[in-house]
Amino acid sequence: MSHRLEYRRYRLPFRSPVRTAHGLWCEREGLILRLEDEAGGVGFGEVAPIPWFGTETLPEAEAVLAGLGERVEGGCVERVDERCGCVRFALNCALRSDPGAIIARRLPVAALLPAGKPACDAAEEAMEAGFVAFKWKVGVLDDADEWVVLDDLLARLPDHAKLRLDANGAWTARRAVRWMERCAERPIEFVEQPCFADASEGAVQQRRVDDALLGLAADYPTPIALDESVAGLAGLRSWLERGWPGVVVVKPALAGNPAELLALLAANDADAVFSSALETGVGRQAALRVAFAFQGPQSRALGFGVGPLFKDARFEGIPPVPFLEIDAVNRLNAEVIWSALS
Ligand code: MG
Repeated sequence: MSHRLEYRRYRLPFRSPVRTAHGLWCEREGLILRLEDEAGGVGFGEVAPIPWFGTETLPEAEAVLAGLGERVEGGCVERVDERCGCVRFALNCALRSDPGAIIARRLPVAALLPAGKPACDAAEEAMEAGFVAFKWKVGVLDDADEWVVLDDLLARLPDHAKLRLDANGAWTARRAVRWMERCAERPIEFVEQPCFADASEGAVQQRRVDDALLGLAADYPTPIALDESVAGLAGLRSWLERGWPGVVVVKPALAGNPAELLALLAANDADAVFSSALETGVGRQAALRVAFAFQGPQSRALGFGVGPLFKDARFEGIPPVPFLEIDAVNRLNAEVIWSALS
């Protein structure tokens, strides 16, 4: 069937800038696209690349969409290169392709705690709101200072709560060993991306870091989750196919066709955590549908505990709540966000 393709660009200031390894991130840029079929059926999708995550850039995405023309067929996605995971994701969502049967009706969401000492007060607040899963950014202060905060945090959390740590690749292999030794004696759900080398550091260094990650996973009881390492479907596939024994963090908004993503995870019996790419409600709805259609060996809290994200609340859509229901996800009306961009 033929569809009319339209898209609108957005540039949305975050309510507070997001601290990343690449400096402060102040505004989210992306595209919302709309496909209308000959029978008047309409679907929406979102292209929301994260500039340093190795997918296509936003200008590249626009060029790909311009190349498709104003009328596209259902098979148009196959013509888009796999590296363009954001465009492939958006087109599949707008074509209303079914990611797969819904497995879960209700999933816990991990509350994102701020770096450093403020994490303790933030955790208390989140607990009061009903959260049972927490993620704390580490690798920001000196290790000794963070270890004090870590024990303070663990002392406050009830036994049924889960705490995961995210180093965003900040540690050297040696520092990571010291952290894994600490975590071994503590109830930590997993440690996310202890070390990382990006392509600019060269293939030798990347291999060294990959070996360090495999070594940490083999030597310590606390699971390790890969996030930056598995950005892009090709990276995810290669780690899964070499038998990665830990967790993988998956941002569906960057990972292309949702059905292919779920099939890849299932074929490798992957232990996956689904995470936001700080997209608007359009992308978030579609990404969450993927998460709800996933059946893993472990039920893990969603990494969608961020927000409200944008100064303009119309783009938010699905607020971060302690437990998210699929019905709440389905209730989001993407048309509202599309119209807000006219
Ligand atoms: Mg992460």
